[in-house]
Amino acid sequence: MREENCIFCKIANGEIPSATVYEDDGFRVILDMGPASKGHALILPKSHFKDICAADAQTAAGLLPLAAKIGSAMKAGLGASGFNVVQNNGTSAGQTVFHLHVHVIPRYDGGPKIVAWEPGKAEPDELARTAAKISAVL
Ligand code: AMP
Ligand code: ZN
Repeated sequence: MREENCIFCKIANGEIPSATVYEDDGFRVILDMGPASKGHALILPKSHFKDICAADAQTAAGLLPLAAKIGSAMKAGLGASGFNVVQNNGTSAGQTVFHLHVHVIPRYDGGPKIVAWEPGKAEPDELARTAAKISAVL
């Protein structure tokens, strides 16, 4: 499954060159051209899905083990001391390329700092009401 005019379809399938870290039948892993830190990688399925909700079960199941493999290689190969696995779905969540991808972002002692969320506050009854709204539609 490919989509016409999708840049990540073209990169994942080798039609546009990229700094490729890893490739197998289902995925290509490339370096992000706007890295949050040195070695920031993107896992691209070779098939087109607009986001994680659209992905088939095999693709979805392959993403997290591959992120662990790439993150481990960042620690061994780049001296990273940790890594973040980030996956954006929808414009409000920061998704800018609508071909499913997973960011693997190596983290180093001493930086760079990467913005995260400020923890808020929620009372137990509010948490319970919110949980009920989600679980009611599962
Ligand atoms: P997202 O905001 O989760 O959709 O992430 C899209 C990411 O793709 C951004 O971090 C971009 O820097 C990156 N990106 C966009 N086009 C390319 C490209 N041609 N090669 C490498 N990375 C890209
Ligand atoms: Zn695509």
